[in-house]
Amino acid sequence: MSRDDILSELVSGRLRFHELDRLVGVSEAVRLRREALGALTGVGFEHISNSSIDAGGLVGRNIENMIGAVQVPLGVAGPLPVEGEFASGDFYLPLATTEGALVASVNRGCAAIREAGHVKVHIFQDMMTRAPVFRCESLEAALGLIKWVGENFERMKAASGRTTRHGELLRVEPFVVGRNVWLRLGFDTKDAMGMNMVTIASDAICDLVLSENSGVELVSLSGNMCVDKKPAAINTLLGRGKTVVAETVIPERVVSSKLKADPMRMVEVNYRKNLLGSARAGALGFNAHAANIIAAIFIACGQDVAHVVEGSTAITTVEKTDEGLYLAVTLPALEVGTVGGGTRVETQRECLEMLGLAGSGEPPGSNAKMLAEIIASAVLAGETSLIAAQAAHHLAEAHKRLGR
Ligand code: NAP
Repeated sequence: MSRDDILSELVSGRLRFHELDRLVGVSEAVRLRREALGALTGVGFEHISNSSIDAGGLVGRNIENMIGAVQVPLGVAGPLPVEGEFASGDFYLPLATTEGALVASVNRGCAAIREAGHVKVHIFQDMMTRAPVFRCESLEAALGLIKWVGENFERMKAASGRTTRHGELLRVEPFVVGRNVWLRLGFDTKDAMGMNMVTIASDAICDLVLSENSGVELVSLSGNMCVDKKPAAINTLLGRGKTVVAETVIPERVVSSKLKADPMRMVEVNYRKNLLGSARAGALGFNAHAANIIAAIFIACGQDVAHVVEGSTAITTVEKTDEGLYLAVTLPALEVGTVGGGTRVETQRECLEMLGLAGSGEPPGSNAKMLAEIIASAVLAGETSLIAAQAAHHLAEAHKRLGR
């Protein structure tokens, strides 16, 4: 078939977009799809076609029916001094966003923290989860399954371990509703965010469960108690991905010189807005705009952006102390990786390299933990700045100046 023939087949719908990669190769398939779509929609795609991303490395792993790439403006904030177990030093933060004033706000938070000292940060738990749901023929069968799980952890660990070199089963927590049983499986996934890894590993565990338990059927490998990409109390209580706390103390003179705010007013804004307001609204997140910073770094660094849902459940605390204003953010469920997924896209990889943590860490897992510590610290910088702006009634003014 000539190129023109392929194009007219595509436009007529007789040839499907997804059939093209095999027919003409990935790069030509991207061009042909775009041209066919141009003919169908009348759009030139001048900008979507203008990208340095190597489609060959992504199609079949990260994207289907590729037609090009959208571009998101990338700004930088910092440096932000971080003192964690894995991230130690000054970091320039890559923030991909179209929200005017966001980068400036995080940058101001970084400046205040720099002048005050640094962010201290710690990861309390690191565990990616999958929760298959089983239908049992009776309550007795459900009890039998839970008993079996309690007695066979090592065998489940071995079965899942055969599917991955890096993944390791850490915990199995059963939950019951009637005769339905969920097994919330928790894994150490080292430098991978781990969703593909734990899904494959969980499948192997389910095979073992089904081979040894009668009266039990697998309904779904994902039973929504994982919980992936849905706001849920279970993730805020038991954690998912990394559970991280970042704190800093900013002397009052820095609060007033850099943040132009009164410390007690910042305490009050946090109390009445982030805590009381969120509680009254029934929110799962008790913060000012954690999702803003998480989304911008996730886009820049090739993370799964839908996981902003879990990241947004952060809790911000602000207290006045003798040393100055104490600020902390607690992120119960921060799911990040430095290998796999979108981290292999060239532009995103450059952002990871800028942070000094692209690819596999030494030891494995240390790069992803470093990324989590940096993101939590960046969230703290963002919270500090926005709470100060609201305490000083500067929010609307900043958005008039930078966001329009
Ligand atoms: P992945 O790209 O599927 O796999 C990454 C692989 O890298 C691991 O399986 C591991 O191989 C290997 N690896 C090499 N060095 C490593 C190291 N230092 N630490 C850990 N692993 C290392 O990535 P993933 O993180 O498992 O999954 C992320 C992707 O899943 C994203 O694209 C996301 O959008 C998508 N996702 C999938 C689901 C789902 O249900 N499947 C749900 C949500 C999101 P070994 O396993 O052999 O060790």
